[in-house]
Amino acid sequence: MNIVLLGPPGSGKGTQAEQLSREYGLTHLSTGNVFREEISQGTALGKKVEQYVKSGRLVPDALVVEVVAGKLAEIQGSFLLDGFPRTLEQAQALAAQLRKAGKAIDAVVYINVRPDIVVARLGGRWTCVNCKSVFNQDTRKPAVEGKCDSCGGQLMQREDDKPEAIRKRLMVYEDLTKPLVAYYRSTENFHEVDGADAPEEVFSLIRRILSDGAKAGGA
Ligand code: AMP
Repeated sequence: MNIVLLGPPGSGKGTQAEQLSREYGLTHLSTGNVFREEISQGTALGKKVEQYVKSGRLVPDALVVEVVAGKLAEIQGSFLLDGFPRTLEQAQALAAQLRKAGKAIDAVVYINVRPDIVVARLGGRWTCVNCKSVFNQDTRKPAVEGKCDSCGGQLMQREDDKPEAIRKRLMVYEDLTKPLVAYYRSTENFHEVDGADAPEEVFSLIRRILSDGAKAGGA
């Protein structure tokens, strides 16, 4: 089962993506994680994308499409895409690539969350520099301030979780990524969930949707 997860920044996509990938044995491909990793390693790709990522702007389509095409070609089984596609051009390039490879998207899950909730979540988000676990100063406080519960690593605020970048990311989302929801909404594999609830509830809702879809499709 190949899945695309859509949703605004702060919708909980990353958290759901990790759990769903574990549950269904999918390869989790997060373009944001790929770019952050390349930036932290100082690679040529990292240098090219750094300014975009840190300021909350989108990396140009041609570059993202090339990176994803390379990653997708390496994946043997099923996959979950998190943070890609983000523009209509990317969605069209993805469709063409999958068609060529004889693959398809089985479910598009859109996690919908109101902008005020998004702003509160992102502004309070702290990420472990070591294992990338995510905490929140309101909803998921670490046991020891500034330290990761899982590995004891230091917690940092992502550069693009600072107020200026959050505003930019939300504007970019409204302008470029929201039209994607309309694009996928007209397909029969589209599902919308309310992401305002607790992560465990959102997860069980998505699981139910996917298992209903699998039954309906005879899988
Ligand atoms: P994310 O972790 O998905 O919120 O992505 C963090 C940042 O990486 C975004 O704000 C963009 O700068 C960049 N990025 C990630 N995925 C894409 C994409 N599909 N297209 C363009 N830029 C992207």
